[in-house]
Amino acid sequence: MRRNSEEIAKMRKAGKVVVEIKERTMDMVRPGMTTLELDLVSREVLEKRGAKSNFLNYHGFPATICTSPNSMIVHGIPGSYRLEEGDIISIDCGAIIDGYHGDSAYTMGVGKISKVAQHLIDVTERSLMSAIDVMVEGNRLHDIGRVVEKIVEAEGFSVVREYVGHGIGTAMHESPSVPNYWPGNAGPKLKVGNVFAVEPMVNVGGPDTVTLDDGWSVVTADGSLSAHFEHTIAILENGPEILTI
Ligand code: MG
Ligand code: MG
Repeated sequence: MRRNSEEIAKMRKAGKVVVEIKERTMDMVRPGMTTLELDLVSREVLEKRGAKSNFLNYHGFPATICTSPNSMIVHGIPGSYRLEEGDIISIDCGAIIDGYHGDSAYTMGVGKISKVAQHLIDVTERSLMSAIDVMVEGNRLHDIGRVVEKIVEAEGFSVVREYVGHGIGTAMHESPSVPNYWPGNAGPKLKVGNVFAVEPMVNVGGPDTVTLDDGWSVVTADGSLSAHFEHTIAILENGPEILTI
């Protein structure tokens, strides 16, 4: 799918709302608070900006953000979990403006965190930012995963394979899938007007995942820590534009 400049302008607006949710939640994170409080702030921003939530009621999801602490990779449901000093927390945020979607996630520490936790966060974010650099017309879709995988594996961490990035536009999840690893072929050429949500999920241990009984929360099979960073990125004539920064 190739989006025209009017469509990308709408996605830029959605991205701005997502950035506001990210900043507001980031400022709040502290030991002792519940993940439900983070969702309430996200709801407040969405309402204030006249935006709709793309997460709420998505296949029955009950909140406007996902909150995934420690060994939880993605899709955690905000609730009574209280953040503790030393936790890491992944927060996935989204918004719809005029029917166009933005989607972005980050991981941060709660208070003082271990060296390995900080390194995991830094490497995951770096893998995303380096992958965005190769999102230029003429390169291939799977160059993205090739870059992520190379950076992550050089540090001895592993890339989750069961969950991937995606096209985004008038739906949160559009084709194609955007793997965070090299799937064995280069994939289609990247074109001006393509908009993708790129979202490496990186584990300290192995790549395998397990879904908990709530039907949503995805955790590492070996209990190791996991981090998640995501941006919505448009490919323009002069290079990639991050719409959620
Ligand atoms: Mg997301
Ligand atoms: Mg996404």
